[in-house]
Amino acid sequence: MAFIVAIDGPAGSGKGTITKTVGKKMNLINIDTGAMYRCVTLQIINEKIGLEETKKIEKLLDEIDIELKKIGDEDAFFLNGEDVTRKIREQEVNSMVSQVSHIPCVREKMVELQRKIAQNKDVIMEGRDIGTNVFPNADVKIYLDASAEERAKRRMKQNEEKGIVSSYDEILANILFRDNNDKTSSVAPLKQAEDAIYVDTTSLNIEEVTEKITKIILERREKAEKTTGNYDER
Ligand code: C5P
Repeated sequence: MAFIVAIDGPAGSGKGTITKTVGKKMNLINIDTGAMYRCVTLQIINEKIGLEETKKIEKLLDEIDIELKKIGDEDAFFLNGEDVTRKIREQEVNSMVSQVSHIPCVREKMVELQRKIAQNKDVIMEGRDIGTNVFPNADVKIYLDASAEERAKRRMKQNEEKGIVSSYDEILANILFRDNNDKTSSVAPLKQAEDAIYVDTTSLNIEEVTEKITKIILERREKAEKTTGNYDER
């Protein structure tokens, strides 16, 4: 039986870390949909295509091959056969990915691919529109959030760990700007699905969030198994 967990929320809410940890713990395949939009962005950069060149982008999407492979403990992304796991996190991609993800044909193709990858599998999928659009019937929907100030602090810490010098005020301003962009976007705006469970991680650490979400998934899984069992008996 395929079991789908959808994790949505704004940047810096802890989605990436939590999805990885919970996925491993609960034996669910972890799918980072942000990385898929990053792959398309990288290919657009590689082919030097302008964001208004829709025909060329459609052709690129027809030919694109995005593969998710497990290499040791790491999830690696392959773009047309090349390992781009690191490249898709570089600044050039960072600064363009949001615009690329708002192009309707890109979203259409990525959603189609996300549904295909998850077919007949138990997955935990992280993004912005998973519970609202990609899998409106997901077994578990979680909306992870945290205050903008806390998310800015986390980003500062991540940068520090990577040796990047940054200003808290600039990071906070960028987060507020992106929140506004994401929530008011006409294409797949970031919003909590009506039946999603809201988890505020502002004052929680990774272990506490992991525990909370694992508990929710276990309860739902038990319920789903019982329902399937009843159905089989009929
Ligand atoms: O999560 P990450 O920062 O890697 O996502 C990169 C970008 O991809 C986000 O800023 C967002 O614009 C876009 N995205 C999206 N829909 C998703 C996941 C990511 O539009 N499901």
